[in-house]
Amino acid sequence: MPKKIFYKDIYEPNFLDKFGENSRAIGNLELSEENGFFIDVYKIAEILNITVNQECISDDSGEYDSVNRIITVNEFEPECRQRFTIAHELGHAVLGHPGVSLRTTMLEKYQDVVKKGHEVMANKFAAELLMPRNLILQTMNELIAEKNWDSKSLDNDQVDELISLTAKKLKVSEISMNYSVKNNNIFVDGDY
Ligand SMILES: [Zn+2]
Repeated sequence: MPKKIFYKDIYEPNFLDKFGENSRAIGNLELSEENGFFIDVYKIAEILNITVNQECISDDSGEYDSVNRIITVNEFEPECRQRFTIAHELGHAVLGHPGVSLRTTMLEKYQDVVKKGHEVMANKFAAELLMPRNLILQTMNELIAEKNWDSKSLDNDQVDELISLTAKKLKVSEISMNYSVKNNNIFVDGDY
């Protein structure tokens, strides 16, 4: 990994554009030894002028209050889940979903088709925010080099280990990393 990478070097321009007037400031954030090579959702929230509160909340993982620009995240959930929740709520903010948006495992709370659609969009946004394709590839390339593996003939165990280590580095759950690897066709697109 180079010593320093700007967010604008890893996000697709059309993704960064979603942040409108803030896209430049976000593009200029850095991944570095000092900051860590994972996406800093707190810095992004700060640029968007959104307050993030960790609180004890029952039932839900988090919510976004679009009027007061406050994300509340369940402090009792593991760090990687909290990060995904914040990224999801940032999605509601950036995509301009009105009112109060929840992140909950109980999807039956969403009777409304529009709100259900917003949930799907916020999850997609969160995955792109935390696990951009270029960052997955760079991280995996570095791991492959460290381990002296042959990138052209990885076996299933090596692929599983890569996914697990990459999830740790990017501070996301293995489940979400597995989804992103599939959605980005990482191992079927000729990258490896
Ligand atoms: Zn939501």
